[in-house]
Amino acid sequence: MPCEVKPRFVLLYGSQKGQAESLAEGIAEVAEEHGLAAELSCLNHNEKYNLETENAPVVFIVSTTGDGEPPDNALQFVKRIKEKTLSPDHYKHLCYALLALGDTNYANFCNCGKTIERRLQELGAKQFYATGYADDGTGLEVVVEPWIEGLWKAIKGALSKMASNKAAFVKGLAADSPRGAPDSTMPDVQLNLLRITDQQSRESIKAPVSKSAAAASPPAPGTHAAVSDLRPAVPTGSSVLASRSPGASAVSASAPETPGTDDGRPRVSPPASLTRSLPPLSESSLNLPALPPPYLDVSLQEADPAGEAVGPSNVEALSAAPVCRAVQLTTGDSVKTALLVELDVSAHPMVTYHPGDSFDVFCPNRAAEVEEALHRLGLSDQRNHRVHVSLLKDTKKKGAQVPSYMSQNISLLYLLTWCLEIRSVPKKALLRALVEHTGHSGQRRRLQELCSRQGSADYNLYVRDCGLSVPELLAAFPTCSPPLSLLLEHLPKLQPRPYSAASSCLRHPGKLRFVFSVVEFPACSWRPAGRRGLCTGWLFDLINPVLLSPGEDESSVSPAPPKIHVSLRPNRSFRPPSEPSAPFIMVGPGTGVAPFIGFLQQREQQRKDDAEAVFGETWLFFGCRHRDGDFLFSSSGPAKPHCGRRRRSWQANHRQGARLHPSTREELEGFVSSGTLSQLKVCFSRDDHEEEEAGASSARPRYVQHNLLLASRPVTDILLRRGGYLYVCGDAKNMAKDVNNALMEMIQTELQVDQLEAMKTLAALREEKRYLQDIWG
Ligand code: FAD
Repeated sequence: MPCEVKPRFVLLYGSQKGQAESLAEGIAEVAEEHGLAAELSCLNHNEKYNLETENAPVVFIVSTTGDGEPPDNALQFVKRIKEKTLSPDHYKHLCYALLALGDTNYANFCNCGKTIERRLQELGAKQFYATGYADDGTGLEVVVEPWIEGLWKAIKGALSKMASNKAAFVKGLAADSPRGAPDSTMPDVQLNLLRITDQQSRESIKAPVSKSAAAASPPAPGTHAAVSDLRPAVPTGSSVLASRSPGASAVSASAPETPGTDDGRPRVSPPASLTRSLPPLSESSLNLPALPPPYLDVSLQEADPAGEAVGPSNVEALSAAPVCRAVQLTTGDSVKTALLVELDVSAHPMVTYHPGDSFDVFCPNRAAEVEEALHRLGLSDQRNHRVHVSLLKDTKKKGAQVPSYMSQNISLLYLLTWCLEIRSVPKKALLRALVEHTGHSGQRRRLQELCSRQGSADYNLYVRDCGLSVPELLAAFPTCSPPLSLLLEHLPKLQPRPYSAASSCLRHPGKLRFVFSVVEFPACSWRPAGRRGLCTGWLFDLINPVLLSPGEDESSVSPAPPKIHVSLRPNRSFRPPSEPSAPFIMVGPGTGVAPFIGFLQQREQQRKDDAEAVFGETWLFFGCRHRDGDFLFSSSGPAKPHCGRRRRSWQANHRQGARLHPSTREELEGFVSSGTLSQLKVCFSRDDHEEEEAGASSARPRYVQHNLLLASRPVTDILLRRGGYLYVCGDAKNMAKDVNNALMEMIQTELQVDQLEAMKTLAALREEKRYLQDIWG
């Protein structure tokens, strides 16, 4: 009788924000349906796996963070495998597959995955399935979905190969040696295990079956399935759904279709939207992802709200710092609102920071959205109840754990306010789970479309690219009523937002400044008023009361200063050169200039403290839209700190000729006149060009990369001949790429080399940590 045990493979993930982890969990969940047993583990739990002796296929799912760094929970693993003492056959017994997640908007795309892969190969491991490089910039699923689909066959192929290698080896040994003892280093694959499961799993990974075939023979639960019939969603596994009959009109989630008007004229079909699809999607058979198995048991218990914590949950690790200054750096008609916040961190002597470091700002979810969520869950009256979360008995979810941030003694209100990213963009797994809790068949169908393979383009367009939030999704699908446990299972942890320090401790002891621009999500059909980013919107509201309104008496006492919970987020590499005589170039348009103000304040102070020292040349490339509207940045100069007492509005300071708050221009020009900044190159992307469009003759540099190109010779000289450094900070989406392209062009021209050589030169600069980026998008 064949054995029931399934062949195993090891599944390891390294994840910063949970994407790689949830993909690994998804793979582990469906492995069984493919006749395999996944042993899932995080890379830093090295007590749970042992690659040194592993003889089953190993699958890695790893993301990349920061400037090509491994995620925190993969750092130790990467360090271990990079050990130079490891021999080239250290992993010769290992066969692996790797899925790397990254974002082409950032430098060093998928660098962590590439590093692991390179080391595995250098250490003798064999790849059994081509590596997938998934790009969050264009949609991870474009690579992830087909990669996972092909993975099952590849694992089985690897297992068979290992098994037959071993069989041949054993046979050879038996022929050679009278004792026929197997080599203990050979993979020990249990041959008989493959027989029962192979057939079953081969069926489950078949291409979408035809409508009639699907109806006649429903696929294994949890596998991709073809749609055959519109009926209430099935409780487990993948749903078997209807494809619309040919010629049927678009599906609207909000109202039943109406073929024509009362007077007989055909109704003009509204366009597709979040809640409405058009043919061919609305008529298509759908391949749905597996239904994520529930795993949390949630109960609420009445409790006294007194003594409830206020603020983020890990508050003891943080400093609540009062805002001692808030300045608007842009005029009202600027496209973006940029603000400077100065915090008083003198009560927290442990908060010492260096230029280049960032600070995590912990913000709550918006009260109105929390209220709406409570209302939607039907739990408004139980907001102060304590939430008890435990693992669901008999859950089918592999490696299920109660998230550590859901501590047992918090109220529902606190959980929704401080612990869960309720604004997160719904993943396909959540959409799939919501189908089961949606009453209206049109709405169910639309949710199914959005999480289906066929609906990928709609998902990207209406969910991912426009940053749809879970509250917005629920508002658009009014008959969707998920239970609290489902939201807890799917919503990620509320993440703090990092901001670059825009000051130097040397220049402003006890103070910390940062600059941010308010993120604006434009209005659209399901977001009639538009909205602000979570943290920047919160910060904006928080500091508003401490900006005096025009005409308000200067001596008026402002309210108590608001406090912000922050924690230090050191940056190990984005630091001014340790050797002061090394020349360096900074490229930071808009708020990207923030860390460079810190760099320059520090350099200015160092020059004052040591007049004899030799300091290298410094260049800054800065850009903004308008010369007068948003030439960012403000400095108090010698102004007195005035925490919590008197505040001057931006308007009032502006009227004063910016004596208290000289503009960026003045601060930067001050660095130039003191000799701290050798070269300041500024461009304005709008106003000079409005003049040009109006007929002015000269073509002026518009963006920072144009100014870089104009200074091609000295810049390349600093970088390539004088051992200098280049720092880029700000927008990851366009600017960082454009700067990189300009550098390529400059290197090609100055060194007279081709594109490949220029790429290699830039890669070498990165490797030497002389081309550094601190970018966000
Ligand atoms: P969220 O609510 O989190 O929304 C932002 C997200 O929505 C982003 O993913 C963005 O791509 C997306 N998005 C934005 N607009 C749209 C749109 N119209 N449609 C669809 N999606 C959209 N920011 C600064 O301003 N100053 C700094 O000094 C700074 N330093 C940083 C340093 C580091 C190391 C990092 C990683 C980031 C830094 N940031 C900085 C970015 C900052 O951390 C936040 O991401 C930013 O302020 C937005 O936060 P939020 O909560 O307001 O927006």
